[in-house]
Amino acid sequence: MFVRHRSQGYVLKRENVNEADQVFSIYTKDFGEIRVLAKASRRLNSKLRSFIQVLTLVEIEFVQGKTIKTLTDAVLIERFSSIKKNLLKLRLTYNFGRTFNSLVKIQETDDNLWRLLDRFFHILDLEKEDANKLEILYYYFFWNLLDVLGYRPELKSCTSCRQKPLPDKFFWISHQGGLVCKNCVNKVKTKVDKIDIQTLKILRIILDYDWKVSRRLKIDPEIRRGLKIISKKYFNHIYEKR
Ligand SMILES: [Zn+2]
Repeated sequence: MFVRHRSQGYVLKRENVNEADQVFSIYTKDFGEIRVLAKASRRLNSKLRSFIQVLTLVEIEFVQGKTIKTLTDAVLIERFSSIKKNLLKLRLTYNFGRTFNSLVKIQETDDNLWRLLDRFFHILDLEKEDANKLEILYYYFFWNLLDVLGYRPELKSCTSCRQKPLPDKFFWISHQGGLVCKNCVNKVKTKVDKIDIQTLKILRIILDYDWKVSRRLKIDPEIRRGLKIISKKYFNHIYEKR
């Protein structure tokens, strides 16, 4: 007899396999990130089909086989209909889910990760449909995810000489973990990015304060570009390392 396990979880990814099966990547409260096989879930009369969908909160039951976990039951807890109705919210949720999925290791249970994901879905679902606030919300959770995973960047002093950089020019080196000052930047041979003071200030607020404070931030297109570049480069660096 196989033991049945139950847990709540966020469904982050779905892949079609075989003729009518699907594999779901679910971040669960009690087992961390798991991949479960839903047998015949693509058939129209499948009971699982109606209860398990991506970007929802579900209660699942599964059995652990020799190598794979098989889904035996699923109950929908929250659909997050406001996310599903808004294209930008939906896009940001897909992006966040993908980032989360690619950085969190299989079966790494962590209460902080669970809380972060739980807050992401609930806050985004309730947030007004204001593009500026939604973008900030995405970056808030993106950078706090990196922080929870142990990749909080250095934003106050130079990662080479440990001095506080002069407020005229700031540089960024992802593989050094953040900021580099004007003096040290000439000594490194790798590719260096510039980071402007506004982008830096936003990152500091996002990582030092809670969402209530961060949601009051405004970002103009220039800063959004800077934030996007730094976020992407830092993500790539961490992704390669893991
Ligand atoms: Zn320095």
